[in-house]
Amino acid sequence: MNIVRDHNIKAQKKFGQNFLTDDNVLDQIVEAAGVCVDDHVIEIGPGLGTLTARLAEKAGHVTAIEIDRQMIPVLDEVLADYDNTRVICADVLKTDMNEVASAYPGENVKVVANLPYYITTPIVTGLLESKVRYKSITVMVQTEVAERMQTGPGSKDYGALSLAVQYYSKPRIITDVPPESFYPMPGVGSSVIRLELYEEPPVKVNDPDRMFGIIKASFMQRRKTLANSLQNNPDTHIPREKTEEALSWLGLDPMIRGEALTLEQFAALSDLL
Ligand code: SAM
Repeated sequence: MNIVRDHNIKAQKKFGQNFLTDDNVLDQIVEAAGVCVDDHVIEIGPGLGTLTARLAEKAGHVTAIEIDRQMIPVLDEVLADYDNTRVICADVLKTDMNEVASAYPGENVKVVANLPYYITTPIVTGLLESKVRYKSITVMVQTEVAERMQTGPGSKDYGALSLAVQYYSKPRIITDVPPESFYPMPGVGSSVIRLELYEEPPVKVNDPDRMFGIIKASFMQRRKTLANSLQNNPDTHIPREKTEEALSWLGLDPMIRGEALTLEQFAALSDLL
């Protein structure tokens, strides 16, 4: 990592900095994202620009959003030969992604990133729930989080993140990546996952925001029955009898827990309630 030495850079834990050093993994990410000249790629957290440069080779344009100011001179140097890149120094969670995405009309918008793990869930849910029509999101995340995104009812990993991901997209784990592929090494296993966004969600629901309110409330107290969770939660506050009646109407056990319901069943319950 000459660049780290030349610029006297210290990886900052508070920004989740674990730089990818394995060329094969970098190539695998670009390939999994299927980047081509028709694409505007948004990269979150370019860091030292290793993935950014590879993306710039294939994409129409690359916008890289980096919170850490000390990376900006490094990125300027690493990306000097690519006139199709721009770097925005900002916190992605406070960035207007509609504005970022609309910079190159006519290009497909794809997100590609080795994400900072401490904010994976807000980043991914923010992208999914935004009004931007992303074509796909290909990201490195903690293996445990990748599994949560892909799993269904009956698994301990199943939760609000699984349902949000599966309502908006078709997830597919591409590969597992060991800690040795990063500098410094993270304390957890990592995986690359690709989310292919649907043009239309796979289930119909009258009010998606209400359905996600119900989903969040039902997983906040996993060990309680769904009817109790929806009654106790101040955001939903639905009388227990009402939920029990709706569950019976759907042919489900009134004492069922939220973790047993499929996306289709949450949608039907939301419409009924
Ligand atoms: N892309 C580089 C790579 O693969 O080597 C770095 C990945 S590192 C896991 C995560 C990157 O996200 C770091 O560069 C970090 O500074 C940046 N980052 C952390 N929080 C951020 C935020 N809120 N907004 C934008 N970038 C952020």
